[in-house]
Amino acid sequence: MSFADETTPTSAADTWKLREVGFDPDRLGHLESLFALSNGHIGLRGSLEEGEPRRLPGSYLNGLYEERRLPHAEAGYGFPESGQTVVNVADGKLIRLLVGDSPLDLNYGEVIDHERTLDLRTGILHRRTEWRSPNGRSVRIRSQRIVSLVRRSIAAIYYEVEPIDDEGDLYVAIQSDLLANDDAGGAPSSDPRLAARIPPLIGELSAGKDSRAVLGHVTQSSRLRMAVGMDHELEVPDRSKTSLDVNTDVARFTVSARLPAGSTLRLVKYLAYGWSSRRSAHALRDQVEGALATSKLSGWDVLVAEQRKFLDDHWAESDVELEGDDEMQQALRVAMFHVLQAAIRAERRAIPAKGLTGPGYDGHTFWDTESYVLPVLTYTAPTAARDALIWRHSTLDLARERAAVLGQKGAAFPWRTINGAECSGYWPAGTAAFHINADIADAVARYYAATLDADFDRDYGAEILIETARLWMSLGHFDSDDGFRIDGVTGPDEYSAITDDNAFTNLMAQRNLREAAEAVNRQEELATRLGVDGSETASWRKAADAVVLPYDERLQVHQQAEDFTEHDEWDFERTPAEHYPLLLHAPYFEIYRKQVIKQADLVMAMFLRGDAFTPEEKARNFAYYEARTVRDSSLSAAQQAVLAAEVGHLELAYDYWAETIFTDLYNLHGNSVQGLHLAALAGGWTVAANGFGGMRDHGGRVTFAPRLPPKLTCLAFRILVGGRPITVTVGKDSATYHLVDGEPFTSTHHGQKFTVAVDEPVTLPIPPAPDVEPVRQPAGREPIHRK
Ligand code: BGC
Repeated sequence: MSFADETTPTSAADTWKLREVGFDPDRLGHLESLFALSNGHIGLRGSLEEGEPRRLPGSYLNGLYEERRLPHAEAGYGFPESGQTVVNVADGKLIRLLVGDSPLDLNYGEVIDHERTLDLRTGILHRRTEWRSPNGRSVRIRSQRIVSLVRRSIAAIYYEVEPIDDEGDLYVAIQSDLLANDDAGGAPSSDPRLAARIPPLIGELSAGKDSRAVLGHVTQSSRLRMAVGMDHELEVPDRSKTSLDVNTDVARFTVSARLPAGSTLRLVKYLAYGWSSRRSAHALRDQVEGALATSKLSGWDVLVAEQRKFLDDHWAESDVELEGDDEMQQALRVAMFHVLQAAIRAERRAIPAKGLTGPGYDGHTFWDTESYVLPVLTYTAPTAARDALIWRHSTLDLARERAAVLGQKGAAFPWRTINGAECSGYWPAGTAAFHINADIADAVARYYAATLDADFDRDYGAEILIETARLWMSLGHFDSDDGFRIDGVTGPDEYSAITDDNAFTNLMAQRNLREAAEAVNRQEELATRLGVDGSETASWRKAADAVVLPYDERLQVHQQAEDFTEHDEWDFERTPAEHYPLLLHAPYFEIYRKQVIKQADLVMAMFLRGDAFTPEEKARNFAYYEARTVRDSSLSAAQQAVLAAEVGHLELAYDYWAETIFTDLYNLHGNSVQGLHLAALAGGWTVAANGFGGMRDHGGRVTFAPRLPPKLTCLAFRILVGGRPITVTVGKDSATYHLVDGEPFTSTHHGQKFTVAVDEPVTLPIPPAPDVEPVRQPAGREPIHRK
């Protein structure tokens, strides 16, 4: 498996870069996603400056959506009537170039050389293209693109043009644009993972002077306003002219210039974006003009230096280092970079499943955030995790309303959303996936345990825990044997719907109920305000203690949900490879009644609630579910890797690790053009820390059981526990725990207790892996073996 032979890292420095060498039109859309730059507020896809060729040259602002009606063939009570779709805002990346009389377009003329590099340490996307125009003139263009991780509303492009032939003076024209309502949405499709079409934006304001312009637009239905501004700095070697034209949907700064042989024209384009649901068009214009003025005053070099410093600090606290597989090292850093980019300046907005790298899933946020992305951020960039959870808290009133509509108590968070309202029109794998509430609670508890952030607990976290606990109490009931059951819900595996006692849901609800009771002890004032009394917390504990966990005595395995193991088997032998993902090729009614699993469900429960299973149960369950899991969701491989590592299938864990990390590099699901699979990418870190690092966090008690896969000689990762930074370095035979700062830390290593203090690292031997029986996957669904 190799991304592209020329881009395979050959030195340690290369593992900090993602490179495209040569121009391949077939990879255009996929690379637009991989080269997307974002800071969690702005997202710019990696489309070429000249605009075309292109697939989906999107630009997005976190939280900016258009509303659309959600038609239901047969309506029902409580079905959401409107949905939300992320908006492709005005494109500020455009810098078109006319070489003599030919537009630079890589589909025409001759591409002499083309290379792009995303540098993960500087956060800059570099490009160098040498091109011969159809009429025989050759130029080199170089660009650098940045979306500032430090200045939330700012992006910038440094652009150079140079004639590289001996044909004398070259006349060029550069058109640097802001372009709104560029319909690049692609053809309508029946694939539910793609985005819906939305109506155009309404132009409200356009203004410009000298080299600066601003466009203001508003969405037709959701009435959200945005403004985008650009300003320029120009350095020309010889004669030139500039002009500015501004219309409703296009603002253009034009430079025409004569370039003598060997000379270079330089243009810096500063971009500023802002949006608001409340502010006026004029206020937004002033906001982006102000941001442009300060970034132009600082200049390109300062933007670059700030970015480098920010990333140096971040990598020092979060990098995962591998020895033995440079390609994995590179891919893991690419994955972690995208996770960081998606979140770091989101500032109390959601983190969508695709980040801001594409329109897939309409730009919605799912449980992917709390169960995949936030665990990584909690331990490596906790302020970003805090912000994302505060965003969830800001939607609590909507969640309370939704619970009331559903006839439940407490709060029911949406399965998919942009602004906090439920946008899932398909309730069996939407509203019924109530586990998202326990997933959010789990992320709250994990963040609190890692940071001991008491202000967060008091102002946000505890309230989420309490309201979600209330939901479980009204969703569940005590049966005649005094077991606490939660019936009629859908777990993580979307190939089983509306099941009784989904083990994952029940175990996560159990943790939610217990964590809520603990939070009440810590936050008495809040509890009084919310009307929680001793009898309520006692009922939570009683329900938690009585949660039902379905088990098949005959097969000696847990059931994913009640009766699951009684269902008919899926005929994998007779399912051709092109019928995956099954959701696009088989009717749901058929999928729902068979033992075919889209993504880790019970297996994920054995990771997050590993304290509820014995090692023998884990091994048996893993083998059983492994044989029935088809991984039609990119969320599966990382979870299977974690469990495979725990039960002793280290090579298999490595294969799944590669699958999750390379999800987008290799476009494994064929839809990376729609945006990156952020949960899968976050899974790269998860497998390192929780899989091979064996880290578990049950109720704030962090433990380790590290074990390296055969391919690696060393793995090091960094985490934050109880506010203390810790580095874990895993070798073949031993692991070393190093406390960077803070009070001594006590934990266990393969069950053995140890305490580590600052400057006194502890090294402990790693016991041999248990002997294991081989496991098998459904025919044709084996992971690619990474040699
Ligand atoms: C998965 C969900 C996931 C969603 C968004 C679906 O295919 O089954 O678990 O939340 O994609 O990534």
